[in-house]
Amino acid sequence: MLKTLMLAVLFAVVGNPNADEMRNVIDNAASSPQQGFKVHISVDMEGLAGVVDSSHTSSAGRNYAAARDQMIAEANAAIAAAFEAGASEVVVIDSHGDKTNLQPEKLDRRATLISGGPRPLGMMGGIDESFDAAVFIGYHARASTMDATLDHTYTGQLKHVWINDHELGEAGLNAGVAGQFGVPVVFVSGDLAVTEEVEALIPAVEGVAVKEAIGQTAAHLLHPKESLERIAAGVKAGLVRRAETQPLTFEWPVTLRIEVADAGQADQVMFVPGMERVGARIVEYVAPDFVSAYRMSRLVRLLAQ
Ligand SMILES: [Zn+2]
Repeated sequence: MLKTLMLAVLFAVVGNPNADEMRNVIDNAASSPQQGFKVHISVDMEGLAGVVDSSHTSSAGRNYAAARDQMIAEANAAIAAAFEAGASEVVVIDSHGDKTNLQPEKLDRRATLISGGPRPLGMMGGIDESFDAAVFIGYHARASTMDATLDHTYTGQLKHVWINDHELGEAGLNAGVAGQFGVPVVFVSGDLAVTEEVEALIPAVEGVAVKEAIGQTAAHLLHPKESLERIAAGVKAGLVRRAETQPLTFEWPVTLRIEVADAGQADQVMFVPGMERVGARIVEYVAPDFVSAYRMSRLVRLLAQ
């Protein structure tokens, strides 16, 4: 299933018409699991070194090209660290915006890439029980966090998201998806706020802060190259300790509660059968398991435009 998906993705990315050649590429990139372990690396942009506002994160922005290069550099630092730590397979997931920011030809060729969307598992595309560890690069704090670079959860329209009364952002939601497949998140990089947010959920996680926010669109920055070294060291340390890091799990059934920006958006979300209105801007849904709750959160995001 994953290989089929990967083929489809790689075709979409490179447009190679030769299926046999492509299968060889995939098989060569994905060595036998007996040789080592398998790592899922999800890469967002808001938490990259040097990034402070939408001039970096919007593809039309003046600083997007530099941020995009840093995105590749941080992904490659994490890939190299994973192989150094003993990984035999690394899958990188482009997790920002339209999810076509990482240029395949610039990525460390030992890794494969999941690119483009929409994808049912969003920023965790491709995750399943075959992975041994998950890594978050360039992540940001959840919506409504003070002094956090570009804090948000999916869009600016979701103000708070709770799972069983725990408030989560993208990092926590993604960690929960990995957790349902038994995969621990061993590393997170971004601003100080997101590393603290994830450390509160997963105490054993290795966190590297590449900046400290001074409000939503200003930050005290570490040099991008210094950041690469710290990310590489952190990914390696997190992967070495992966057996001690617990997957993030929640009790089932899972209660998803979301506060949207205005009542009209909540009206639209109420088209979903089983959705409950618990406030003018707050909706609630009970899902049988975490991944189902996660998928519903993605649907609410689409409806609350
Ligand atoms: Zn994000």
